[in-house]
Amino acid sequence: MGEKKKKIIKSIKIDVDKCNGCRACEMICSAFHATPKYSSNNPARSRIRLIRDPLRDVYLPVYAGELAKAECMGRDKYVIDGKEYDECGFCRASCPSREVFKEPDSKLPLKCDMCQDDPPQEKPLCVQWCINDALIYEEREEEVEEEVKLEDVEIGLESMIDKYGMQKVMDTVSRMSASKKG
Ligand code: SF4
Ligand code: SF4
Repeated sequence: MGEKKKKIIKSIKIDVDKCNGCRACEMICSAFHATPKYSSNNPARSRIRLIRDPLRDVYLPVYAGELAKAECMGRDKYVIDGKEYDECGFCRASCPSREVFKEPDSKLPLKCDMCQDDPPQEKPLCVQWCINDALIYEEREEEVEEEVKLEDVEIGLESMIDKYGMQKVMDTVSRMSASKKG
């Protein structure tokens, strides 16, 4: 059992009724996380995605959570206030069954970092840019087990190792570092 410690839990409450599908959240998230910062914006690189079906008036913002290595069995439907949603729509995982929350070129998993990237933001940028107040930022204090936090690089490496195997990744890194030195 790990040590208990106090932690600020940051979360975004989503008020689906207020979202009008403007996609400003996707734009600012992808721009903030672009390299260099703000050099481009592309919803496919955003860590918040909009599940949208204008004909049925469905606009569901969902932000990227943990990597799921295997797809799940969940294919249920939910009817809420007369609108039908696929179970997958609510899921925050980057998983093998769909394209969202994967960096389009490398296919590495994307995960929301609450905009704690450099420079850290007082409030997540998607929340700041949502003029309809569909995204509401919340902080609360909780006692949690001390966790080992995986950095983005580690998560990316883990996923590469799963896909290509440890040896292939090691070989590629040593080849790249040799060519950089030379
Ligand atoms: S910025 Fe707000 S209203 Fe626009 S798509 Fe995102 S959540 Fe919806
Ligand atoms: S909190 Fe920041 S990283 Fe997370 S979805 Fe919103 S803009 Fe993207």
